[in-house]
Amino acid sequence: MIPLRLKIETDVVDPYVVRLRSFEGLSEDRSDVGSLDAALESASAENADFTGAMGKLRVFGVDPSEVNGDVIFVVPWRGTAHRLIRANSRHNTLLITERCDQLCVMCSQPPKERHVDMFPFFETAVLLSPENSTIGISGGEPTLFKSELFEFLERTMLARRDIDFHVLTNAQHFDHNDLAKLCRLDLTRILWGIPVYASDRDIHDRIVAKPGAFDQVRKSLSLLCEAGAKIELRTVLMKPNAPKLFDLAKFVTTALPFVNKWAIMQLENIGYGRQKWNSLFYDSSVGFDVVGKTLDFAISRGIETKLYNFPLCTVPPEYRMFAPSTISDWKRAYVSDCADCGLRNECGGFFEWHPKAHGYGRFGVA
Ligand code: SF4
Repeated sequence: MIPLRLKIETDVVDPYVVRLRSFEGLSEDRSDVGSLDAALESASAENADFTGAMGKLRVFGVDPSEVNGDVIFVVPWRGTAHRLIRANSRHNTLLITERCDQLCVMCSQPPKERHVDMFPFFETAVLLSPENSTIGISGGEPTLFKSELFEFLERTMLARRDIDFHVLTNAQHFDHNDLAKLCRLDLTRILWGIPVYASDRDIHDRIVAKPGAFDQVRKSLSLLCEAGAKIELRTVLMKPNAPKLFDLAKFVTTALPFVNKWAIMQLENIGYGRQKWNSLFYDSSVGFDVVGKTLDFAISRGIETKLYNFPLCTVPPEYRMFAPSTISDWKRAYVSDCADCGLRNECGGFFEWHPKAHGYGRFGVA
């Protein structure tokens, strides 16, 4: 797994954000080094020493070329730095909060009450990001800090017109007063990822453990539609909602035809998903009929529909084009049976924490 946390040493006391510049090639242009950069001074097998306006920073256990351009959040008293933005990755996500007002049965990251305001640090990180990045915003539930989130988006998008955002939200906190704020943002550059688990409100509300959640999601989706926002519906496929997946397809195509994308997602084996694996995991390799029927229907009605986190060999060949590799590089893994697989380059594999006995009845490429 790619490390997101690095061991560091620094004389600085307060936490700060800095971009690492390795400049190992003599031809590299150093003219754009700014006050928020730390340039490589020397490197050994054990550590790399950087220096910048914030003073000296020693980073342990990294090859400097692998962190060149990374934007890190240095926490001196812990002796760690978090790689907020990895320059060579398409999978950079900023975690706004660990608080959440829902308690989804399969939550991969169960909520915590503690909250630390990271917006000022995240704003700096976005400003230092590589050109044309798409940055994920997630939680917990980011819109629990809605005013701060809107201000953060407005400021960073004005300052960096090349950067797009993908915001994951449970859409429980939008109201009509937000319309003007939404319309001030360049909504062509934000994709709002919003979970809807069933067209039956009781099933949806049970899955998110919040009475009234389905009705609120519907209102928020209407509001976002009115604002002209781009929407990605997200449905984690599980035993409690799989039998009703086709009903959801009919609902999406008739009530929500304005969504830009619909992602049907396999379950992640971590957090509550791991604790309740046996009652939640739906083996789509043997029960693909409902998934295939849903895909056929939604696509025929003009909804771009995709399968996220589905190992490619568990999907019938004629549907594999709808199953892109979606698991982030730092948490992607393969099982031993994948070693000689010809599909491996296109396949997203598994989450790193997925059990080696993967649980799919039909697996491997014949
Ligand atoms: S065998 Fe492994 S690499 Fe090949 S398609 Fe299946 S999960 Fe992907």
